[in-house]
Amino acid sequence: EARTIAFIGLGNMGGPMAANLVAAGHRVVGHDLSADALAAAAERGVVPAASAVEAVPDADVVFTMLPAGRHVLALYRDEGLLAAAAPGTLFVDCSTIDVADARAAHEAAAAAGHRALDAPVSGGVVGAEAGTLTFMAGGGTGEFTEAEPLLAAMGKRAVHCGDAGAGQAAKICNNMILGVSMVAVSEAFVLGESLGLTAQALFDVASTASGQCWALTSNCPVPGPVPASPANRDYRPGFAAALMAKDLGLAAGAARATGVDAALGLRAAELYEEFAAEGGADRDFSAIVQTIRQRSGE
Ligand code: NAD
Repeated sequence: EARTIAFIGLGNMGGPMAANLVAAGHRVVGHDLSADALAAAAERGVVPAASAVEAVPDADVVFTMLPAGRHVLALYRDEGLLAAAAPGTLFVDCSTIDVADARAAHEAAAAAGHRALDAPVSGGVVGAEAGTLTFMAGGGTGEFTEAEPLLAAMGKRAVHCGDAGAGQAAKICNNMILGVSMVAVSEAFVLGESLGLTAQALFDVASTASGQCWALTSNCPVPGPVPASPANRDYRPGFAAALMAKDLGLAAGAARATGVDAALGLRAAELYEEFAAEGGADRDFSAIVQTIRQRSGE
């Protein structure tokens, strides 16, 4: 069934996601503050709107793909996006934002007579282009069921994680595992090097033993053992360290807010914050192995 969709935020992720909705036969009216982003989306069949508010009155579903929670809440509440939509519109926020902000967005949507889902993604720009993202959704079952065919046009998998905020919670918990495990794998390779162990030998053991994890077997931080990993192309991302720093910052904030003793998650957030600030922002997050090696005096 073809639907009318508003899509706000047509950047690196939102642009290709909106284009995949167009390709699936939906009418997509979009807006971005960047004229370049808006023009690029228009070339791919998105109907450009002069403002976010002007994109939503006819929409059945409003997607947002914005940098952070403050952008989502400002649009929803202060800039009148909720007020401009027809009653009962489904608002789906795919941005990665703070769990508390996601819950506030749900509340604001409900107070305005609408329905909402938080549905952040993993899979990066490559997944957004290919339509192979994974969505993690929080909200009601009816809302999830209604959104599912649209999510299927942009991704390969959508998991309903629970109520409001559960999608964001799943996203930051998963990425906390990833950030901590990448630091652990990197430290192990540097320790192995200083003990005279080859990277291949450590990989051959750990990849089939209890050290096995995605950071090792898919995104191996040293060149050689996994030819497709970013380490083999001078750490071109992949998953940029700036985005890992952002997601770990959200996880660290949630750990502090709930009083959870996430010692390694908080430390990984600090390490990635430093790494991004010291020139690593645009490199794959596995390049942190080089910093660990330098600090070890090798
Ligand atoms: P981006 O900066 O490329 O795109 C964000 C877009 O939002 C920009 O084009 C900006 O102009 C627009 N924007 C900001 N405020 C706006 C407003 N009020 N109205 C209209 N447009 C507005 O960022 P991105 O890489 O597309 O990421 C978007 C979200 O997806 C972020 O929350 C990010 O953490 C998350 N994410 C990104 C990736 C990735 O690999 N890039 C992967 C997973 C999740």
